[in-house]
Amino acid sequence: MSLATKVSEHFVTEFAADPAFIVRAPGRVNLIGEHTDYNDGFVFPLAIDHAAFIALRPRDDGRVRAISLDMGDRREFALDDLRPAAEVEWIDYLIGVAWVLQERGYPLRGWEGVVGGDVPIGSGLSSSAALELAVARAFYCVSDFDWEAKAMALACQKAENDWLGVNCGIMDQMISAAGLQDRALLIDCRSLETESAPLPPGAAVAILDTGTRRGLVDSAYNERREQCEAAARHFVLPALRDIDSATYAKRAHELDALIRKRARHVIHENERTLRARDAMNAGDAVALGKLMIESHISLRDDFEVSSPALDAIVDCAKADESCYGARMTGAGFGGCAVALVEADGAKDFVERVSKCYLEATGNQPSLYVTRASAGAETVVSTPPPGPLPEASGSRRH
Ligand code: ADP
Ligand code: MG
Repeated sequence: MSLATKVSEHFVTEFAADPAFIVRAPGRVNLIGEHTDYNDGFVFPLAIDHAAFIALRPRDDGRVRAISLDMGDRREFALDDLRPAAEVEWIDYLIGVAWVLQERGYPLRGWEGVVGGDVPIGSGLSSSAALELAVARAFYCVSDFDWEAKAMALACQKAENDWLGVNCGIMDQMISAAGLQDRALLIDCRSLETESAPLPPGAAVAILDTGTRRGLVDSAYNERREQCEAAARHFVLPALRDIDSATYAKRAHELDALIRKRARHVIHENERTLRARDAMNAGDAVALGKLMIESHISLRDDFEVSSPALDAIVDCAKADESCYGARMTGAGFGGCAVALVEADGAKDFVERVSKCYLEATGNQPSLYVTRASAGAETVVSTPPPGPLPEASGSRRH
């Protein structure tokens, strides 16, 4: 049963009526461009075919009542009485998005509905951004404002930063808001300009979840950020985005050894990410795969954010005959890798890499072949009862 059907059926059971809307927003995987976002650089994610869904209908009393299928919980709150929680729970994602939208002047109406998703939680595919964008889309459906993907992404990022206390960049929300089917999205994290490129014909993207979860990631992340800022300060630049690899090569000796390695990763990774865009536009899966392999080596050796599990799964993937390239994806220290594979061989790839990784580490991985999907959208929009033209009523949404 599709997730849209599942949330819809639960809605019917709960409210004895069809939902007025069903919305979805996807998780994401980053193909290349890692630890570049906070250096004002480039990232190149795609929206995956795992998503958060909400079936809902408007309420006129300024309240939001939501049932979470995945948490087995039901909660409600009033739009004029939003309170931060001492400990973040799923409902706080709804409250946080409502808070920031209202702060930014969006006139929100209440709603009631059923929330369900299949983005694995906490494995680095950004189930949180998927939920946030689905919530933003739910408010859009019942309220009177225009949908602008970038504004919604920024609002949801602010909710995550300031309401939920998670220090994330703009990538997750931007790709969940603005993803495109069969395409990856190059995001300039400074200007927030985006440019899409098609996945190479005949190639598929596989997500390789090592089954390990990151520990100590916050302190390591903050340390990497500080090291990048120190390098930019040394060159008297706003960010490492502003130096190219040729200039860097001439001046790298000025930096101490550790900062030099960190900067080298970021500067080359930005250039690799732009080259990846060119490879995609040329339909060149081999070139794209090579860039992914270089990215992993740089993350492992220079930025030092890989882990034995990530290295093992990337090695298994790279050695496979169907694989163009593979790398860790996300902040690192655990979580997922991403591989570019021949679409025809993807099923066998999954079997062989699962076996190889299990033998190498004793861990059971989860592998999925994913499709680049559309960003946040309304999948069902039912016209209110009453005399309407025969059209489906999906004009506005
Ligand atoms: P991720 O790396 O998957 O984004 P986070 O820790 O940032 O992990 O966010 C996960 C949190 O987001 C969950 O603990 C939960 O509160 C919320 N969440 C994500 N998906 C769902 C869902 N389908 N239903 C309810 N809550 C969800
Ligand atoms: Mg998250």
